[in-house]
Amino acid sequence: MTPKKWAIREILNVTTVFLRDKGIEGPRLCAEVLLSHQLKKSRVELYLALDRPLSSCEVAGYRSLVRRRLKREPLQYITGHQEFWSLEFLVSPAVLIPRAETELLVEEANRLRKGNLLSSNSEPVILDLGTGSGAIAISLAKEIEGAAVWASDISFEALAVARKNAKHHNLARRIRFCQGDLWQPFSSSTSPFDMIISNPPYVPAEAFKTLPPEVSYYEPRIALDGHENGMHFIKRIIEESGAYLKPGGWLLIEMDPDQTERALRLIDSTQSFSYKERLMDYRKKYRLVKAQKKNG
Ligand code: GLN
Repeated sequence: MTPKKWAIREILNVTTVFLRDKGIEGPRLCAEVLLSHQLKKSRVELYLALDRPLSSCEVAGYRSLVRRRLKREPLQYITGHQEFWSLEFLVSPAVLIPRAETELLVEEANRLRKGNLLSSNSEPVILDLGTGSGAIAISLAKEIEGAAVWASDISFEALAVARKNAKHHNLARRIRFCQGDLWQPFSSSTSPFDMIISNPPYVPAEAFKTLPPEVSYYEPRIALDGHENGMHFIKRIIEESGAYLKPGGWLLIEMDPDQTERALRLIDSTQSFSYKERLMDYRKKYRLVKAQKKNG
């Protein structure tokens, strides 16, 4: 018996039904993205060649990609890419896959700069604390031309991904990467930063059981686990950032909507900040807490 010849249209249809039956979200998109990855063609190109037959090699390669997704490996780790702030980022299991809601941090940082609210507005010094893939640092370096951007992470592997992304976007010379736990690479004696931005690990240790397998099995626990109530890093960042911000400098932290009230109370208790606010993401959930250090 000769092996079955598959055409693009047919294999996409069959795979979509299969993925849907197995409970994979967005089954059609998933089938298309994996086939584009296998054939190194865009999704539009697939649609322009729906009758193209696939070689047995291509079918075997596609099947192994589909099997990975069935084990709940995130699509982005399989393809190695994720879009953020309309830029392409390389991702690997060493880094959290950048989320759409994190764009709010970039948007807000930009708004502060455009509103002339940074003390060194033309050449602000910005820190992305816990940079992961580098998505925030790189998007900001692209947006704010004069900015001196610092990006830190405790994970060497994550920094290697971030550096590759910076190079890919021609920003390797604009961003300084440093390895260390939170403030370890920095000195508080000069209070260097106009703005500190962070998407720290904030998933409560207790919540891991309820996360989708894509997140709990595949994304790096070190980038997600915020320990008790998910507040461990948020608390340390709020309590210690005052020492690293210039007078009038801004702190922007992403967190879970349930953590925002506690974060605002912590901000008050430091007595380092003169202003605080929480902001909603595109799903209308409080996602970002912002605070301005006292002037002098
Ligand atoms: N937003 C992520 C999630 O929903 C958590 C990100 C983080 O801990 N920084 O899993």
